[in-house]
Amino acid sequence: MERELETSSRVFAMVLRSFARGRIGLPAEGMAALPRAIADPLPADLIDLDTPVSQVAPGRVRTQAGDIGCRAVVVAVDPLAAATLLPALPPVRMHSYTTYYHSTAEPPLAEPILLVDGDRRELVANTVVVSRAAPAYAPAGRHLVATSVVGPTAPPEPAVRLELARLYGRSTADWTHLTTVSIPAALPAAPPPQGRLRKPVALGDGLFVAGDHRDSPSIQGALTSGWRAAGAVLERLRSG
Ligand SMILES: Cc1cc2nc3c(=O)[nH]c(=O)nc-3n(C[C@H](O)[C@H](O)[C@H](O)COP(=O)(O)OP(=O)(O)OC[C@H]3O[C@@H](n4cnc5c(N)ncnc54)[C@H](O)[C@@H]3O)c2cc1C
Repeated sequence: MERELETSSRVFAMVLRSFARGRIGLPAEGMAALPRAIADPLPADLIDLDTPVSQVAPGRVRTQAGDIGCRAVVVAVDPLAAATLLPALPPVRMHSYTTYYHSTAEPPLAEPILLVDGDRRELVANTVVVSRAAPAYAPAGRHLVATSVVGPTAPPEPAVRLELARLYGRSTADWTHLTTVSIPAALPAAPPPQGRLRKPVALGDGLFVAGDHRDSPSIQGALTSGWRAAGAVLERLRSG
């Protein structure tokens, strides 16, 4: 989510390695399928949804619904919220990202390929016929195209659509613009030096932190840091 090549080469190599060794995909039921898969095996009454945490301290979590006493606190929120709850954490700069969604009857590509702008015209970062990868993302007879732009400024949709005509080599005049989603704090920046990609997750006094900002900026990084935080919590609880 940046175009100045300012990301640490360690992070780049890790991401490239993952793309080469693994598979990429989209859950048919949307990204929320991932947290649901993690939550499903747990008893439902263990999880409070829509309950923002306002403060954490060793052995205590403060929410709008009251305080919760506990032996371990894991702060697994986004980096900006984490810095508010745990002021000792170093500040994290965030990259901004905007995605334009279009619907079309005639998909411009037959394959689920992420198209990047090799000419570096710097308007569109990448575009993909999402419904080629996840057919359930569009109703029968239609296709969903998702196009992303890096940076805090979102260009007007007609300019993006015109650029898409150039990239796909076909007219986009009959496409329907569904929505544009701008996320100002989309992904933590990872400039050098990164040192160890795996930042500590145990902060002492039973306080733990997890999230993509403690590992590589990705879902994979978030999951790995969560796994490490869970291990650290178990270790603390076992040691009494
Ligand atoms: C448009 C976009 C596309 C992306 N594409 C990819 C991709 O293709 N592949 C990939 O690997 N990564 C991708 N990412 C990055 C990926 O989404 C993140 O790296 C990942 O979601 C980070 O997970 P996390 O658990 O650390 O934080 P988050 O997913 O941000 O989860 C933190 C949660 O904490 C909650 N929260 C915040 N404050 C509080 C509070 N005070 N109390 C209670 N809850 C709170 C938030 O509501 C949120 O649900 C993308 C990100 C964006 C924005």
